[in-house]
Amino acid sequence: MDPTSDPSLKSFVPVEEDSHFPIQNLPYGIFSPTPREDSRVGVRIGDQVLDLAVIQDCGLLDSANLPADILSYPVLNPFMELPKKQRRAVRLLVSGLLREGEPTLRDDENLRRRALVPADSVTMHLPVAIRDYTDFYSSKEHATNVGIMFRGKDNALMPNWLHLPVGYHGRASSIGISGEDVVRPHGQTIAPDAKTPSFGPSRLMDFELEMGFFVSSNSFQGDPIDVDQAAENIFGMVLVNDWSARDIQKWEYQPLGPFNAKNFATHISPWVVTMDALAPFRSTAPVQEPEPLPYLRESDRHTFDINLEVHIQAENDEESLRVCSSNFKHLYWTMAQQLAHHTVTGCNMSGGDMLASGTISGPDKGSFGSMLEITWRGTEPIVLPGGAERKFLADGDTVTMSGWCQGDGYRVGFGEVSNTILPARNLQ
Ligand code: MN
Repeated sequence: MDPTSDPSLKSFVPVEEDSHFPIQNLPYGIFSPTPREDSRVGVRIGDQVLDLAVIQDCGLLDSANLPADILSYPVLNPFMELPKKQRRAVRLLVSGLLREGEPTLRDDENLRRRALVPADSVTMHLPVAIRDYTDFYSSKEHATNVGIMFRGKDNALMPNWLHLPVGYHGRASSIGISGEDVVRPHGQTIAPDAKTPSFGPSRLMDFELEMGFFVSSNSFQGDPIDVDQAAENIFGMVLVNDWSARDIQKWEYQPLGPFNAKNFATHISPWVVTMDALAPFRSTAPVQEPEPLPYLRESDRHTFDINLEVHIQAENDEESLRVCSSNFKHLYWTMAQQLAHHTVTGCNMSGGDMLASGTISGPDKGSFGSMLEITWRGTEPIVLPGGAERKFLADGDTVTMSGWCQGDGYRVGFGEVSNTILPARNLQ
């Protein structure tokens, strides 16, 4: 077993049992200790952030032979593009440094004060310079639910769906992180019996519970990534809220797919959990019937057991309502298949490209990953703790997604992606 994943490891930094950030996790993020200081690479441990720029500067990572100042960059890209062996060496050194029996950092008060910063005092930033963003549609349950609503039970899945991971090219520049607000978009919509569209704020704002992964390094145009090599090209994962304006989507999506309904904002959780940290939580992926074409067949087909939840809280409510509890392992198409399919044409990948899963719905009613499905297109409204009814999302609503793998007495988690909807701007 990877020594950094040993469940018996403990850190000298206090970590609660339900914390998402024990020593077995060690996710990477970009933070600035104070608003005036430059952003740099950090690792989350319990309620603290370990400043890796300081740790590298002190020479504590020298044995990993890293390029100078690579952990002082304001994005993870240069670090992500390092060979996996070198990234693993850093993980092993950081894990060693944080262990309860290791005095180097634990007993050096001056170093500790510089290198360990309370997580609630730092400013988090987008962790990766994302050059390209692709969003898939890989949940069979979600695709079936949406298909039933729009095309009826007999034509729920399109003929291609069981043969390839359907996706579309998303907008990388409007990806932000947890804590930022999202402004209700304007757009074209068409009323049920109208012949011509009208213009105004979207009335059917929705979230989509998703997860995304970051491609670690460049691949060349013309060179597909083999499905069995794909895992080597994945750096780590985050939670993704793919905001969706359903009324805009319904009018615009044929024949080329989502556009303005999706391009105004997508939010991700700020800590990138590495595939090394997720390895102990490997799980079997759904059996595929019919068997896909050879380039999508995996010799080691697997996924990850990641619990997922969505909560909604209205502006003046004291409490939130859990509206969904799902799991990443339900997805029909794996990350390896998504990457292999994306590049089979010879399409090149850049380090830092983000590929998201599509809405992760489970088989049961409580596990649907969008309001569209939860309220069945608005026909079955939900009631929030303060008494307000919701068919779709209202201004002031905060949507919070969280995700974690459950170990024996500890969790390897993603923290959360939590964002609030602001009213549409006045365009007059
Ligand atoms: Mn989506």
